[in-house]
Amino acid sequence: MLSYQHAYHAGNFADVHKHLVLYAVVDHLLRKPSPITFIDTHAGRGVYPLDAPETQRLDEYRQGALPLWQARHRQADQPLLSAWLGEIAGLQPRGSRLERYPGSPWWLAQRLRGDDRLRLFELHPGEHDQLAQQALPPNAQRIHGDGLAGLVQALPVSTPRLCVLIDPSYERKEEYAEVADTVCAAMRKARHAVLLVWYPLLPAGRHHALLERLRDGGLRKVWRSELTLRQPGDERGMYGSGMLVANPPWGLDERLAAAMARVTPLLGEASRYTADWWVEE
Ligand code: SAM
Repeated sequence: MLSYQHAYHAGNFADVHKHLVLYAVVDHLLRKPSPITFIDTHAGRGVYPLDAPETQRLDEYRQGALPLWQARHRQADQPLLSAWLGEIAGLQPRGSRLERYPGSPWWLAQRLRGDDRLRLFELHPGEHDQLAQQALPPNAQRIHGDGLAGLVQALPVSTPRLCVLIDPSYERKEEYAEVADTVCAAMRKARHAVLLVWYPLLPAGRHHALLERLRDGGLRKVWRSELTLRQPGDERGMYGSGMLVANPPWGLDERLAAAMARVTPLLGEASRYTADWWVEE
């Protein structure tokens, strides 16, 4: 039974982290003309109105996208962050107020070129109905189904390059192992794929099982990036956001570090950003 709805969390600090990494990866991949298949295994709704009752209930974007938005005019000399904020600005109906926050399908569809492909998986019927209301380019396909199984079935793809985002809700603790096994299976079928995995940093530390299983799974190059808002033991709930990138584009670490040096002070005094190689050949 699926109960998670991303609208409750839209635009929070984890979305900021995840979508900045995604944006930087896509930006790099688009420098070359050869076509790319993008697969988003856990798509969610696509675009989130920030005045929706679910989003207003927790108002998490006030500790995420909003402080960045309010500081956007001071980021002109930070290329990655200013470009990312510029994309968000283009989505706002009235320009100056942050009224909508884009989810991963929007980030991917927005920059899709004619020969690229996009597959968006969403399992929750209500969330898939919401996604179906988003306008998508003709080379994007929505699939109401399991994104982990769907990913492995979709491989190999017909384009020379492949970029995958795996962004589960981790409602069940088994999902950590399922994600790791899927990543390993996908990388066996598409060794060149650039594959991104998001995971929450929670006091229970379940993400360690995911990381260890990936390290044992025969992957060659995995880069890890983590953004924390506070120390693990300070409060209950998610204290940080993690992203893994298998086969990261060259220079991604420097570009992210420079952007995150601007982001962390805006998210609070205790906010920290770290990145390292989790698996290196
Ligand atoms: N990727 C989205 C973004 O960045 O805007 C947010 C996705 S949200 C964290 C996770 C989504 O995955 C939820 O909408 C949930 O309904 C969906 N979901 C859960 N299990 C799934 C599965 N096995 N396959 C596809 N979607 C799933």
